[in-house]
Amino acid sequence: SEVLLEVTNLKKHYPVRAGVLRRQVGTVHSVDGVSFSVHAGETLGLVGESGCGKSTVARSVLRLVEPTSGQIRLDGEDITHLSKAALRPHRRSMQIVFQDPFASLNPRMTAGDIVGEPLAVHGLASGKALDARVATLFEQVGLRADQMRNFPHQFSGGQRQRICIARALALEPRLIVCDEPVSALDVSIQAQVINLLIDLQRQHGFSYLFIAHDLAVVAHISHRVAVMYLGRIVEIAAKDELFRNPRHPYTQALLASVPVANPLAKKLAPLVDGDVPSPVNPPPGCAFHTRCRYAMERCKTERPALLDAGDGHQVACLLNEGTGRSQLAPTT
Ligand code: SF4
Ligand code: MG
Repeated sequence: SEVLLEVTNLKKHYPVRAGVLRRQVGTVHSVDGVSFSVHAGETLGLVGESGCGKSTVARSVLRLVEPTSGQIRLDGEDITHLSKAALRPHRRSMQIVFQDPFASLNPRMTAGDIVGEPLAVHGLASGKALDARVATLFEQVGLRADQMRNFPHQFSGGQRQRICIARALALEPRLIVCDEPVSALDVSIQAQVINLLIDLQRQHGFSYLFIAHDLAVVAHISHRVAVMYLGRIVEIAAKDELFRNPRHPYTQALLASVPVANPLAKKLAPLVDGDVPSPVNPPPGCAFHTRCRYAMERCKTERPALLDAGDGHQVACLLNEGTGRSQLAPTT
């Protein structure tokens, strides 16, 4: 299907400063050369441990942070450096749902005003028409229209996330970036919200870039999954293919800790032994080499490219280069 979002070699580096002179002592490689695409109507899951840069990718796509380099194309148009004014029409087509429904709702606005605000700001509806549209949005996310007059504190966490989702839907976006949308919710509520997101996509046909540290959650909603590690994507594949045939040692380790038959059955245990290296001045070579049980001498110096391994399956591991097929036996 058609490509909606295309991200090419995205980098976001921050200087680290220290001392009274605020001298730069290092560089955080928060996002370090990330490329992926999201097709129309598709959900791409982006999974990785906290601090791997996935939220920075999300915010860069939405132009909430300025990338250091790289390119973001929406519908074929390069939006990487568009001015605020030129970006305005695109703002409508890209919406975000944040992790924390408590922090992202203004406590002094009614739920109805929160959901209707984007429509009012863009001059798309007012008065009775606005009320009617907001009532419809409430019902679409499983809330009652008469709850429009309530304030955020009168809703549960799951209901608040439904308000955030209704607000994101208001402008009929083509892409909704979900940044850990259920991580702050009780496990019992998580599946309800995920299933709502799936239903809404079936009805409206928009795309999700769905970010989570929890592979089980990502597996439930995604068509394809990208695995991120220390600012880089190490593997991308169709969801079923990734679960059946993980090629990157990091993905294999992640999957080894997931109950595959019923991925939502329990929360993930801590994933891989050893610490994630600091993203400040990361060493050359494969970012995973300090924790990889297959690491070779050349992994310390050669950075593996994300290469095609067949059927849209891409993997960044020196063991895969030049073979077309993985030489690794999956551990699951
Ligand atoms: Fe492991 Fe080397 Fe592959 Fe990196 S490139 S995942 S260190 S085998
Ligand atoms: Mg985050």
